Amino acid sequence: MGVGIFSQRNGMVAVDIVASCGVMTPGQISGLARAAEELGVFRFKLTSRQTMVAVVGADRAEELVNALPALGLKVSPYGNVVRAVKACAGSGALCPRSVGEALDLGIEIQEKYLGLEVPKDFKIAVAGCARGCTDPYCADLGVVASGREVFDVAIGGFAGSARPLHGRVIARRISREEVFALIDHVLDRFRALAEPGEKLGRAISRLGLDPFLPARSLEGSEPGPPEDFAKFLGI
Ligand code: SF4
Repeated sequence: MGVGIFSQRNGMVAVDIVASCGVMTPGQISGLARAAEELGVFRFKLTSRQTMVAVVGADRAEELVNALPALGLKVSPYGNVVRAVKACAGSGALCPRSVGEALDLGIEIQEKYLGLEVPKDFKIAVAGCARGCTDPYCADLGVVASGREVFDVAIGGFAGSARPLHGRVIARRISREEVFALIDHVLDRFRALAEPGEKLGRAISRLGLDPFLPARSLEGSEPGPPEDFAKFLGI
């Protein structure tokens, strides 16, 4: 597993800092700012994955990395791993449009899967309503709240390419517990079936969607686990 530290054209390095789906407390921000001033950080840059890059002299990068755990932050894993999860502000406390608790779910997904090795980088996006502010259909795996504590899941999206792919919905209105079981299953199938360096969407284009599904597609299923999916989950 690589780490998100990259050489920059100005001779400095960019340290990619990951928080809980982009959520930071005032204490984290002020602590990071203090460390940045002490270490001569040149600039911060917010990324499209809701991480924050700090551009710092190569000779001070290690000190910055070492300061992160005390702030509840860390350097983002990089390479062919599950990347930092993008989640929107969908929650009962924040975005008024949300229909489900997307932010908490995204944070939990990130805590469970971040850095897990896979054949090719694997990006997850979670949205709290159909507006999809985190572009869930452009992610390897997208989760969209479709009701209070029920979610749709799409797989195989891929935006960072000259040949982008749109994710395909494989489950509708499944529970939080089922979302985790489905992610476990998709990651297992991805590891088993994809060629090294092959994106999930490309593997699906090559092999079809069926080998990546659990017992059957859940598309169109109604609230509550369908019988065969419940069996797959062992519940
Ligand atoms: S996807 Fe929906 S819930 Fe999430 S930030 Fe956008 S409008 Fe709000």
